[in-house]
Amino acid sequence: ITSEEQSVLQQIEEEDVKFLRLQFTDITGTVKNVAVPASQAEKAFEEGIWFDGSSIEGFVRIQESDMRLEPDPETFAVLPWRSNSDYASARLICDVAHTDGTPFAGGPRQVLKSVLERVEEMGYTVSIGPEPEFFLFKTDEEGNATTIPHDKGGYFDLAPKDLASDVRKEIIFTLEDMGFEIEASHHEVAEGQHEINFKYDDALGAADNIATFRSVVRAVAAQNDLHATFMPKPIAEINGSGMHSHISLFDEDGNAFADDSDEFNLSELAYKFMGGILNHAEAFAAVTNPTVNSYKRLVPGYEAPVYVAWSDTNRSALVRVPDAAGTSARFEIRNPDPSCNPYLALAAVIGAGLHGIETDADPGEPVREDIYEFDDEKREEYGITTLPPNLDRAADALENDEVITEALGEHVTEKFLQAKRANYADYKTHVSSWETERYLEKF
Ligand code: GLN
Ligand code: MG
Ligand code: MG
Ligand code: MG
Repeated sequence: ITSEEQSVLQQIEEEDVKFLRLQFTDITGTVKNVAVPASQAEKAFEEGIWFDGSSIEGFVRIQESDMRLEPDPETFAVLPWRSNSDYASARLICDVAHTDGTPFAGGPRQVLKSVLERVEEMGYTVSIGPEPEFFLFKTDEEGNATTIPHDKGGYFDLAPKDLASDVRKEIIFTLEDMGFEIEASHHEVAEGQHEINFKYDDALGAADNIATFRSVVRAVAAQNDLHATFMPKPIAEINGSGMHSHISLFDEDGNAFADDSDEFNLSELAYKFMGGILNHAEAFAAVTNPTVNSYKRLVPGYEAPVYVAWSDTNRSALVRVPDAAGTSARFEIRNPDPSCNPYLALAAVIGAGLHGIETDADPGEPVREDIYEFDDEKREEYGITTLPPNLDRAADALENDEVITEALGEHVTEKFLQAKRANYADYKTHVSSWETERYLEKF
């Protein structure tokens, strides 16, 4: 048992933790829990905890269903919303392994770790600052979610219009209790829409944080009889929810993306990485924008990207360079949405960037005009391509991109594509209210 694990055992003792929730995600990013009494903690660290992997989406076949969870002691956190009962519960985020202890290639956290090993071999670490957006909706008498916004606020509005700011504060306090460092939070453009930014972290920590963040936001909202949703486009014709992600690489001298002599304070390395992102965005969209609904957000007019280009000013571009320098020099990838599996999304994005470094990719010149306004001819002249228009085309692009499928690994690529194809096939045969409203009486 390591000293870190020892210190977790001590905290379990001191904080009177009675139950441990061992957490991991399936390929869709849904957090799964195996609850064990805290008395099992030492055993969990030493031998792992066995579970049945066959019931987890994208994991294994029934014939080889035994798997084990290996808790990462760095992720120990006491769950704040249980603190008013007599005992406390804590969570530990786990890696998934085969019963003999070899890492399971189909575990999303393992997939990200494998990409990060490549980053490390190249002498870097990756910093990610995610900006998840979400809606707070009212629930009906039965407690079911509606799409009625909880408040009538707008971008950066303050109380009294921003009724949800109390809920948002409660969310922030809860996150802080769990060790989050919150940098900013504000009302977003749409009614009922919010954004909370937490401090950048190394990529693995950031992915863990995103998974935790979504559970905390939903739990606190539910305590307030609200429903928090990370669905990318819950209401047509108003802004959807993105999860912009700020990214930079660090080496032993500091921020390897920084170069003060450059017009945008970015280094060659940063441009190569960005070039890789732009070259593979069409393929990683299936992972960063993994639902049928994701593609209803990626349309012109709502500050979400449609076109594959970069800019220092324009929010219609896929990559935006904020006005920052030195340690905080970075760029922002704007297409990811908060319905993604954060481990797989970061693995895919970082895989694209690494390939950019390896191949000296060139992101071209920044586009300063509003690309939403460009016609096909002008886009062609600028060499600007578009993101896939739907999940099916995104799956095609993913299937044909060796860089991204390699980052995800064979197991996950296969299961992921299967799941996406099935989603789309189901959607395609569904008759929506858009159709019945227009055709039922007309024909
Ligand atoms: N909601 C927008 C999106 O879908 C972003 C708006 C913003 O952060 N300015 O990406
Ligand atoms: Mg923001
Ligand atoms: Mg925002
Ligand atoms: Mg942003």
